[in-house]
Amino acid sequence: MPIQTVNPTTNKVVKSFEEMDESKVNQLLDQAHGSYQNWKKTTYDQRGTLLHKVASLLRMHKQKLAKIITLEMGKLIAQAEAEIELSAAIFDYYATNGAKFLLDKPIDTEFGSAFIRNSPIGVILGVEPWNFPFYQVARFAAPNLMIGNTILLKHASMVPQCALSIEELFVEAGASRGVYTNLFISGERASTLVSDTRIKGVSLTGSEKAGASIAAQAGKYIKKSVLELGGSDAFIVLEDANIDQAVEWGVVGRINNNGECCVASKRFIVVEAVADEFLKKFKSKLANLNIGDPMDPRTELGPLSSEAAAVTINDQVERAVAAGAKVLLGGKRAVREGAYMEPTILAEITRENPIYFEELFGPVASYYVVQDEEEAVTLANDSSYGLGCSIFTEDTERGKRIANQIDTGMVFINHPTWTQADLPFGGTKNSGYGRELSELGIQEFVNRKLIRISELSDPF
Ligand code: NAP
Repeated sequence: MPIQTVNPTTNKVVKSFEEMDESKVNQLLDQAHGSYQNWKKTTYDQRGTLLHKVASLLRMHKQKLAKIITLEMGKLIAQAEAEIELSAAIFDYYATNGAKFLLDKPIDTEFGSAFIRNSPIGVILGVEPWNFPFYQVARFAAPNLMIGNTILLKHASMVPQCALSIEELFVEAGASRGVYTNLFISGERASTLVSDTRIKGVSLTGSEKAGASIAAQAGKYIKKSVLELGGSDAFIVLEDANIDQAVEWGVVGRINNNGECCVASKRFIVVEAVADEFLKKFKSKLANLNIGDPMDPRTELGPLSSEAAAVTINDQVERAVAAGAKVLLGGKRAVREGAYMEPTILAEITRENPIYFEELFGPVASYYVVQDEEEAVTLANDSSYGLGCSIFTEDTERGKRIANQIDTGMVFINHPTWTQADLPFGGTKNSGYGRELSELGIQEFVNRKLIRISELSDPF
């Protein structure tokens, strides 16, 4: 994949970048490894000061950075600004709470005394996607830097200006060389790099294919890995739901980030008693979205991130229809320049339909009507993914009971699956393993070192 900015609103190439050769990558790896020897000796206060500085620079440059996001991957400008705010909050969160999360943990042991000390492990490679180009990096880099690890970051090839801007923020914040390093290399080369002895762990957010490639290398070379992969979140609407609220959140859940969210609401599963009312209102809201330029604050649905992404989702719709699915709304590319797709609702998707198990990464909702709660749970769990799920009911106890039966890493009651610094994020099944954000996110790439102090009289 060429490393270049292509504006998806026009599909025109804006700027191209050179891939780094092997000797450059080797030099940067050496630098990150060398920098780790100093960074691991810094105090939590010193690391926290750097992270707070990055957070304040993100806020200071918010407008400029948001425009780069929108230019490179088509996110609505207001959502791009919100992403910068969220990223800043994540840096502040780990700067403020990291030391507390990493405190020594005493162990109540039979003889002598013992405790667990959380130590850094070295250079960690991050492979990140384009869909939240700052937030994805923040949730990986902030906890790892707080631990005392250093970062090599291979970002998606289609957001090179975002990738460079993040590295520049660290320079401006005063980070020493090698604490945070951007790599302009292909995905395949990132996988190969995992074998390098200077790299001690790898975290990937992206597709199952890329995740499997990274995990295979990590397994082969005995490195810790975290995978945050795709999802096909169910959005369950029960007969006792507030339908207007469910419709509002259903639209947001499906079209936020132009539909390109791992935790977007993708499969709408509605109980028959309220199905007609939900569908009528949901369809009407989607049909009336203002489609346009993502830089224009009035736009409600922008382009997909690239022409290739628009071709892929359009092809999924065509294959679904060929296999018997019914189009309730949209179903085609929007007639305009750029990588646009009409907001679409597909129904009558049988289990044999090829898209039944696929992730729909764009403004296309699949819609299912079920008899009752039990059928809704069975359908929600009939997915190879296990990232998030939403349940709409006015009975919170019922929502919690159903949440217990859902095989996903996250369940949201009366809200689409979403994220904030203090909530753990991650999935089960083919959605990956490990967690980012919250206290759990800082525990992934640490050496939980046992330190045992014995008395002379202790037995062997
Ligand atoms: P992708 O192709 O897997 O790209 C993600 C990253 O992996 C990019 O940096 C990409 O580099 C790199 N990559 C590609 N092939 C690789 C390989 N063989 N080995 C190592 N790295 C490789 O993902 P995408 O399709 O662009 O992104 C969307 C996917 O990410 C969706 O499935 C979405 O659900 C998932 N996602 C998950 C989460 C989560 O937290 N669970 C969050 C956001 C997105 P290049 O750009 O150079 O190819």
